Amino acid sequence: DPIDWPTKDLVTHRADTTPDRTAMVAADSGNAVTYRELDADIDAVAAELDRRIDAPLLPTQPAVGTVLFATMRLGATLAPLNVELDAETLRSQLSTVDADLLVCGDGTASLAAETADCPVVSVDEGLSGAAATDHEPADISARMTPADLSRTDTQLVIFTSGTTSEPKGVRLTVGNLVASAVASSYRLGVLPADRWLVCLPTYHMGGLAPFVRSALYGTAVVVQRSFDAEATQQVIADRSVTGVSLVPTMLSRLLEAGWEPPASLRFVLLGGGPASESLIERCQERSLPVCPTYGMTETASQIATARPETAFEHSGTVGQPLVFTDVTVVADGEPCGPGERGEIVVDGPTVTPGYLNGDGGSFSDHGFRTGDIGYRDADGHLWVEGRVDDQIVTGGENVDASTVAAAIRDHSAVAEAAVVGLSDEEWGQRVAALVVGDISPAAVRDHCAERLAPYEVPKTVQIADALPRTASGTVDRSAVRSRLYEDGESGDSTQ
Ligand code: ATP
Ligand code: MG
Repeated sequence: DPIDWPTKDLVTHRADTTPDRTAMVAADSGNAVTYRELDADIDAVAAELDRRIDAPLLPTQPAVGTVLFATMRLGATLAPLNVELDAETLRSQLSTVDADLLVCGDGTASLAAETADCPVVSVDEGLSGAAATDHEPADISARMTPADLSRTDTQLVIFTSGTTSEPKGVRLTVGNLVASAVASSYRLGVLPADRWLVCLPTYHMGGLAPFVRSALYGTAVVVQRSFDAEATQQVIADRSVTGVSLVPTMLSRLLEAGWEPPASLRFVLLGGGPASESLIERCQERSLPVCPTYGMTETASQIATARPETAFEHSGTVGQPLVFTDVTVVADGEPCGPGERGEIVVDGPTVTPGYLNGDGGSFSDHGFRTGDIGYRDADGHLWVEGRVDDQIVTGGENVDASTVAAAIRDHSAVAEAAVVGLSDEEWGQRVAALVVGDISPAAVRDHCAERLAPYEVPKTVQIADALPRTASGTVDRSAVRSRLYEDGESGDSTQ
């Protein structure tokens, strides 16, 4: 195991070795703290926490980093909660994680008060740096003694997006996080002047990982409260951002807004869901350094990431697995050959020890079963095709829901589409689509008939104003399904 060590929180090391480097920057104000200042802020926040399990209810802001490293300093666990959830769901997640303390901040105090049956503390922006002026780094006696961490300590509990079922609380250890940070750096590289922009929610790994990584690398995070096509472009230019994590809809909005990234931008880490080939092609036209990535909460984020040159040469791939990560495609219990589809199975030091409810996850001989379908080509590049649950069996034929959805999205009048299997007396399951766009159900079916096998063409098509989404923004497939069942009963679009 490459990282079998006892360690301190990552900022303690940085405050000792690179105290004057910038640690965090607030995107809007430009306010920043160095590692020395962050170190002092962490001591101040840690004095407020001092609990076993701390649950921050915070929008994306620098304080997320301060609280994260404060729990690390204490040897406590951080369980970030989704600020978009209602009080009732939050209460149930708080009891699932068995939190001792709820941490609220900017704009979440009333939701916290409504939710918590444990103590609540409030944090400020997270960039005071105030305590740092009181003591120089040499004044060791003024500093809190950081806890000794071991590789297997549970550092985080992160809820999955809840796309396939209720969100599951995933335990991630210190070792999982550090392994992921090290492996990611081998694919994306690290430069001393790096500034990684976070504009994703920090209650998912995509938003939280850059904080951990930057502290390990001694580089900076730039923190923007929420994504906005105009404002985010401005921040990338004004704050000398060198890398940014985005989901595909954000990137396509940036491109629609005419984004010309500055030359200093080294990577756009694109993940969270499938990126269409046309999106990758548009990046290629603008020489945009896109790195399509495949990852999940259960592996502390990235599993495989394509460098831009790979992404452009093999449009649609997520590239090679990261270092330390073994990816096996498995069908009927056997590893698949090149080009053969099966379930993606992952092994390595980033894989979670299990879920909160004691469920260890689903393992095969080859490692953790992701529930995703894909294949590797002859060069080992990974292609993710969708979820095992998206496989629709209709009249004995296998249909991949994401293939059908991609074909529908190819139509220029279609903005979004979700495809699911509905149970059907005659067919076992029938292919059904919920489509957002200025188009008729018949035109959707005609378009599919030109591109897909007859059994893949949706038998039910409904046009909607928007797709139902989970609180974390992924398409809520069970809501899509109920919506299509309801509409199917009225029968107006079924052929
Ligand atoms: P839940 O596990 O609660 O159903 P979720 O799986 O959506 O929710 P996350 O852990 O946030 O929760 O998302 C990981 C999943 O996102 C992966 O298992 C995969 O299905 C999908 N995904 C991530 N990146 C890609 C990608 N590049 N292409 C296709 N799918 C992707
Ligand atoms: Mg999942």
